[in-house]
Amino acid sequence: MSVKEIFDRRNAFSFEVFPPKTDVGMEKLCGEGGVLDQLYTLNPDYISCTYGAGGTNVGKNLEVLDKIQKDGKCVPVTHFTCIGNTKEGIKEQLQTYLDHGINHMLALRGDLPFGWTGTGGDLHYATELVKFVRQEFGDKFTIAVAGSPEGHIQCRSLEADIAFLKQKQDNGADYIMTQLCWDMDQFRYWLDAIRAAGIWLPVDVGIMPILDQAATINMALSRNGCVMPRALCEIISKNWIFPNPFVKDPFDANVEQKKADFKKAGIEYTINQIDEYRACGINGIHLYALNKYEDVAYIAKAAGLLDLI
Ligand code: FAD
Repeated sequence: MSVKEIFDRRNAFSFEVFPPKTDVGMEKLCGEGGVLDQLYTLNPDYISCTYGAGGTNVGKNLEVLDKIQKDGKCVPVTHFTCIGNTKEGIKEQLQTYLDHGINHMLALRGDLPFGWTGTGGDLHYATELVKFVRQEFGDKFTIAVAGSPEGHIQCRSLEADIAFLKQKQDNGADYIMTQLCWDMDQFRYWLDAIRAAGIWLPVDVGIMPILDQAATINMALSRNGCVMPRALCEIISKNWIFPNPFVKDPFDANVEQKKADFKKAGIEYTINQIDEYRACGINGIHLYALNKYEDVAYIAKAAGLLDLI
């Protein structure tokens, strides 16, 4: 069943992984009894795999998705970007995915590599990519697109961003996967606004589990400009690792205890946030698994996501 068909029937539940850089990392993710095998036991509807800027990790991305496809436990979804890709290159790569039985994609502009001002490719925005894929491949792909409840960091206004999201729908997208957003009032505002703008696509909400202090701050502020609510800031402040959570050798005497306390509070925060999202009338929860099992499995179970199936 395609992910689009699942959304027609019920809410979906999925994971996101990334292609590891090393062979050891690949074995941990894709080896027998590895993280993917463990994630399957939770019966996700799909697992998506990220795609590096400029296609730097295309080989590993395909290897991961190939395993998911061959294992047949859930739908493999590839992320795909315009960065550094010509139209010919896009056609070739997408045909390769199809040849491997991978027919679901998240169509993105892509994060611009440091110092770049544009995509450096033939296509400049996700709207163009969606249009191109529909022109070249018809309905062979189920296409997801990104939505930014707080507005994309480069958008000139939230209204402009919503107009471009509508364009993604008009060009043939099938569903929306959202960018990280902890500001629930903003999310509710955005959900009402996109519906008012005539965007009826299912909304699959991206959730980053709050497990690590540095990673949480980094994810919010290095690219996305996410609002951090007071309750989340409190968890960070109460467990602050001195001098700061980014240094390799902190002088804080309680590092391990603080890490554990942060994680415990972060997991609870994440579960509560999933509850809030589900009460908003969304269509799916997409958990960034961060190539880990135990913590995301605990969150998925405690949040009741396993009962969606
Ligand atoms: P677009 O929708 O093209 O928007 C980019 C900016 O341009 C926005 O500010 C928008 O308002 C503006 N815009 C859009 N269309 C037009 C237009 N026609 N004219 C003028 N302005 C326009 N990145 C990766 O590199 N690899 C990944 O695997 C990856 N996975 C992701 C997964 C999810 C769920 C999400 C939400 C994001 C992911 N990203 C990934 C990040 C994403 O690539 C970045 O957020 C990127 O900066 C924007 O991509 P987009 O598809 O939202 O861009």
